[in-house]
Amino acid sequence: MIIKRDIDIIKGYFEDYSGLLGGYAERVIVPEDEKEIRGILLEAAAKNTPVTISGGGTGVTGARIPFGGWVIATENLNKIIDIDEKNLTATLQPGVRLSDLDTQLSKKGLTYLPDPTEPNAFLGGTISTNASGAKGFKYGPTRNYIKRLRMLLSTGDIIDIKRGDYSLKKGKLFPLKLKDREIKIKIPDYTMPGIKTAAGYYVKDGMDLVDLFIGHEGTLGFILEAEIALGKRPEEIMSFFSFFASENDAINFVDDAKKFNAMSLEYMDSHSLSLLRVKYPNIPLSAKGLIYFEQDYKKESESEVIDSWTKLLEKHNALLEDSYFADSDKERVKLKELRHALPDSVNEIVKKNKMPKVGTDIAVPDNKFKEMLDFYHDKLKSSNIYYVIFGHIGESHMHVNMLPKTEEEFKKSRLVYAEFVKKAVSLGGTVSAEHGIGKLKHLFLEIMYGKDNLKQMALLKKSLDPSCILGLDNIFPKELLK
Ligand SMILES: Cc1cc2nc3c(=O)[nH]c(=O)nc-3n(C[C@H](O)[C@H](O)[C@H](O)COP(=O)(O)OP(=O)(O)OC[C@H]3O[C@@H](n4cnc5c(N)ncnc54)[C@H](O)[C@@H]3O)c2cc1C
Repeated sequence: MIIKRDIDIIKGYFEDYSGLLGGYAERVIVPEDEKEIRGILLEAAAKNTPVTISGGGTGVTGARIPFGGWVIATENLNKIIDIDEKNLTATLQPGVRLSDLDTQLSKKGLTYLPDPTEPNAFLGGTISTNASGAKGFKYGPTRNYIKRLRMLLSTGDIIDIKRGDYSLKKGKLFPLKLKDREIKIKIPDYTMPGIKTAAGYYVKDGMDLVDLFIGHEGTLGFILEAEIALGKRPEEIMSFFSFFASENDAINFVDDAKKFNAMSLEYMDSHSLSLLRVKYPNIPLSAKGLIYFEQDYKKESESEVIDSWTKLLEKHNALLEDSYFADSDKERVKLKELRHALPDSVNEIVKKNKMPKVGTDIAVPDNKFKEMLDFYHDKLKSSNIYYVIFGHIGESHMHVNMLPKTEEEFKKSRLVYAEFVKKAVSLGGTVSAEHGIGKLKHLFLEIMYGKDNLKQMALLKKSLDPSCILGLDNIFPKELLK
């Protein structure tokens, strides 16, 4: 195990992509195996020292940023233990980087279907946040692909749980058998929205115990190992980068496109396109909206697939002549770069402004999407704050990124955000569909579930982490643990 204390070396662990400042820790520990991690957790629990678990640091909610105590970094727990080609599963340590996993799987014609978008994320981080990505439209979030978890609790107990082993009831005590004793976990009784969500602990009647540890944001235990489900790599994929002269055309296209079996359906608004034009001047000036989508297909049906998409694009007045199309890996990489350039450009503005962005992760039921979008536009127009809107339109899940230039604008952006949250909750939506709550969205989670339910979450955490050392201030304020 390596223990780092030099501030110049460890300060990188006090950041993620949230822009949250002020993180600090006494040391960063990089363990090599389970025995070492168990020793660290037992010592920390005995000393009441907070522990923050660090993955790839690509999170956007400050969840891996420590405020005191020790950091356990997972980068040396990076073994792909097994890839079972027959049963389409893989067993991995938590520090495996998604891009490394993809490289190994591609050699065998396999893929990890949820494909969370940021390739530098670690598997443990993506399980801990229940990440999803563009392909979530077809394949759903990380949760759907976790078959087994090996968890280490801060008490030193290890639980190795397979999906199907235990079923839990909302509002009831669940007796969890450990090696030499049993603990009782009180499962909260709130109702999650019936859409994609990563807000707070997963709670559902008849839920699997495995699901409790997916999206727990490093608060319930240390993910030591996971068995994931794999899929076959699609034979062929074509990607479309389709521009529209009006936002309405783009949105109406999506309504129809949802009936097709695309892998992803993503959106960028006119502000996003203006920002991208700085680096990609060929983006047509008349374009006011973009839909990016990918379609898997078999070689023999290629022309049929292109035909049906072209007809649909024509029906909705897409700027076909100016749109981009990729049907080879090389061209697709270029489109992916273009798409990734948007969050990069946003981050550059954040750095230039020296002011954190205020980015939403709200999703609403499909039949409420247009109402929510109109609400965004109304509020943003009157706020006068620069913003871009992009994201997973196929799942009615958009990221509104407000980019304040001053402290005053920052405060205003947070107020606008709170209004978005209230509206989304009134429509049956979620305050976080994929990023989690971290340290930045406690208030929004409270708007969604109410204080009593946050207290239920705190109680649940205490039953698994009785010394209350893990991931403090993630999901709910640590004061609720008192
Ligand atoms: C450009 C960009 C695009 C992005 N796009 C998406 C997207 O489309 N969809 C999406 O869902 N997210 C997206 N994200 C956010 C981010 O990639 C995800 O939240 C990802 O899951 C974080 O993984 P990580 O390994 O970087 O975790 P970190 O940021 O290091 O940590 C996240 C959380 O996981 C916990 N954790 C890490 N390892 C363990 C472990 N072994 N045991 C227990 N807890 C652990 C940490 O304590 C923390 O609470 C994007 C980020 C960027 C920068």
